[in-house]
Amino acid sequence: MEALKYLAGYPPHLQARVRELIGQGRLGAMLAEKYGQPHAVRSDGQLYDYVQALKDRHMRKAVPLGKVIYDSKLQVMKHALGTHTAISRVHGGRLKASREIRIATVFRDAPAEFLRMIVVHELAHLKEAEHNKSFYQLCTHMEPGYHQLEFDLRLYLTHLDIAQQ
Ligand SMILES: [Zn+2]
Repeated sequence: MEALKYLAGYPPHLQARVRELIGQGRLGAMLAEKYGQPHAVRSDGQLYDYVQALKDRHMRKAVPLGKVIYDSKLQVMKHALGTHTAISRVHGGRLKASREIRIATVFRDAPAEFLRMIVVHELAHLKEAEHNKSFYQLCTHMEPGYHQLEFDLRLYLTHLDIAQQ
């Protein structure tokens, strides 16, 4: 079996559990059961309103939003989440400089919870460039289930990769 690239930073016993689910063909069904809720954020305009509403609720004092768009060229792991452990200076610096928020197009059709998770992640970058402790504190302040959602998002991306093979 190929390496689980989305789960590279996670402990071996967790990766083994995921391989087991994949081997049994149960990963997709498990995710569908847990995250069955689609969302209606289809256009860039709707995405802007969605991000602005979350920002108003949790991060009113942060820098104003610039452009907010779905970007089909973004690779989720390379640009959106970074790696689980490494610090991504370029990634954070770019966002801080431009104040743009780009969301990979895969989230347009993803369950509602994963869109919220990635928007929370990008909003936290308005204040904190790096994936450090205060960054994740911001994330869990906005979304208490953030860590579970990020893990499950990685499962979802793994599932999409397998489904495309
Ligand atoms: Zn990030």
